[in-house]
Amino acid sequence: MLKLFNSFSSSKEDFTPFEKNHVKIFICGPTVYDFTHLGHARIFLTYDLLSRVLNDQGLATDTLVNLTDINQNVFNKARENSSTYIEIAKFYASAFLSDLDSLNIHSVNRLAFVSDYVQHIEKEIMTLIQKQVAYTAHGNAYLDISKVKNYGKISHQTRQDLSLHRLDIGPGKKNPEDIMLWNCTDDFDFSWKSELGEGIPWWHMQDTAVAMENFGKNYDVHGGARELLYPHHEAHLAQYQLLSDSEMPVKAWVHVGLVLSQGEKMSKSLGNVVWVKDLIKKYGHNLVRLCIFSKHYRDDFDFSENDLLMKKSLLDLILLTRSQISNMTHDDITNLIQELLESLNDDLNSPVALEILERICIAVKTGKSISKNDFDRICNIFGIKV
Ligand SMILES: [Zn+2]
Repeated sequence: MLKLFNSFSSSKEDFTPFEKNHVKIFICGPTVYDFTHLGHARIFLTYDLLSRVLNDQGLATDTLVNLTDINQNVFNKARENSSTYIEIAKFYASAFLSDLDSLNIHSVNRLAFVSDYVQHIEKEIMTLIQKQVAYTAHGNAYLDISKVKNYGKISHQTRQDLSLHRLDIGPGKKNPEDIMLWNCTDDFDFSWKSELGEGIPWWHMQDTAVAMENFGKNYDVHGGARELLYPHHEAHLAQYQLLSDSEMPVKAWVHVGLVLSQGEKMSKSLGNVVWVKDLIKKYGHNLVRLCIFSKHYRDDFDFSENDLLMKKSLLDLILLTRSQISNMTHDDITNLIQELLESLNDDLNSPVALEILERICIAVKTGKSISKNDFDRICNIFGIKV
């Protein structure tokens, strides 16, 4: 049985979806104002691996990704290009889809521009206000976190830790750590009319509405970068609990570590961003996959192109194995395949799984047989096309 590390409980747990054999996955998607970098790619590759492991076990996956187009960076890009936020979002969403395709990621079956959900966001904020867990102050709407049970649980913060944060500063906030839901006071280039006043729906609430409208009151996996734990996922969980009247609307919170470059976070200002489209063009998706999966998804990955080159020998071994497939699998290799699958069941331990794949390829090279079905099955789990 698959075990996944759940950030909520800080432990590996047996994974059982709400609905038998049907797994609903929500991934915090990109803000659509730039191209996909390797950090994003690692996130989507991780959940693609998860989907492939689940599919291999006979479970269907339903993966939803939100595309954040209500965001100051998108608005700024629109202004720089004398364009609209919609045109900017469409352009970069299309580039994102093309990057997913070139990475051989086909597990994402639902995409949602958050701007298509403004009415739902508004309706859900009104519900929170009616439930007296949210309030308005000087035109803005906030979630009153003093009314939220277990707030801080997912980011493992005490009430005192939380009180040290100064979020979404504005007049009339009841608690400094209260979460903004709707912003009417800051000056943006684009805004939406609403009963709450003309403004913009705030980030955390955008994702809550997208997930709620697509998946209903619960879903199985919430994914994204580890840096989203607080305040984004803490706020999302609180909002979801209150709107769904459920203490545990999400089965597993699964977070991916950062991709670094020489110990630094990738950023355009440091000039160390690695774009997916460039990497794929130079190395192909197989090497990118082998490289990303050579690190456990929860660990940070200090990336250099040398890491990609080092995977070339494994790819060559896989290609050699492809040329030697037969119609049956030797018992020793059947046992290794079992070990490989078990390592993936252990919180997607892909580094160990790849080591076992290498042992399988070496065993074939030295005369042991592998069937086409078994070989294809392994390649398919890693998304390797040879
Ligand atoms: Zn999100």
